[in-house]
Amino acid sequence: MEITQRLSRVRRRLVQACLDAGRAPESVQLVAVSKGHSALAIEQAVAAGLLEFGESYLQEALPKLEKIPREGLTWHFIGPIQSNKTRGIAENFDWAHAVDRLKIAQRLSEQRPVWLPPLNVCVQVNVSGESSKSGCAPEETLELCKAVVQLPRLRLRGLMAIPAAASADADRRIPFRRLRELSDDVRTQGIPLDTLSAGMSDDLEAAVTEGSTLLRIGTALFGNRIP
Ligand SMILES: *Cc1c(COP(=O)(O)O)cnc(C)c1O
Repeated sequence: MEITQRLSRVRRRLVQACLDAGRAPESVQLVAVSKGHSALAIEQAVAAGLLEFGESYLQEALPKLEKIPREGLTWHFIGPIQSNKTRGIAENFDWAHAVDRLKIAQRLSEQRPVWLPPLNVCVQVNVSGESSKSGCAPEETLELCKAVVQLPRLRLRGLMAIPAAASADADRRIPFRRLRELSDDVRTQGIPLDTLSAGMSDDLEAAVTEGSTLLRIGTALFGNRIP
């Protein structure tokens, strides 16, 4: 199947989910997750009208970023962030979605080049509470946001989560609702957040129902990843 066909399917799902939830479709942004796919596949996605791309691994992303003209595109780093990767992320990306501890945020801020605008960041929260998943604990979210918002070269945009897979549709919504409630708590404390980075190929409907403003979609747009 062609990217154009997959894209129109995803857009249809997005629009339907928004209509069902009484939300405006323009209130949800689509980030095309291109990890596991070539620079050529990304260029085809650009030709199909996509402008926002997400990558999870720095070593894989950098050669692709070099090949693809940057003009008009926005690059999101959505993978876990190790200390030794912060410089590459700060120098090459527009967003980092998985900030889950202060030390990482401080490094990103220090290493963000002065000639670039502040790096947009989301604080990742472990809303499903599994020990294996990354993200800060829900009860640490406010404190971490308060610290991150002070960092001069970062712009705190919102919260991000990757919930554990759930089977029933109703169950899928629970972690997304938790994320939205946490975001509301942070905003009540005077920290302006405008982004909920939540929802992937399999659970975009549940995420939109619970207020997601940014979907990270890979498989549904590009097909299966090359391992
Ligand atoms: C790979 C990945 C996605 C995309 O997942 P799909 O199920 O392929 O849509 C979204 N978010 C993160 C953080 C990812 O690593």
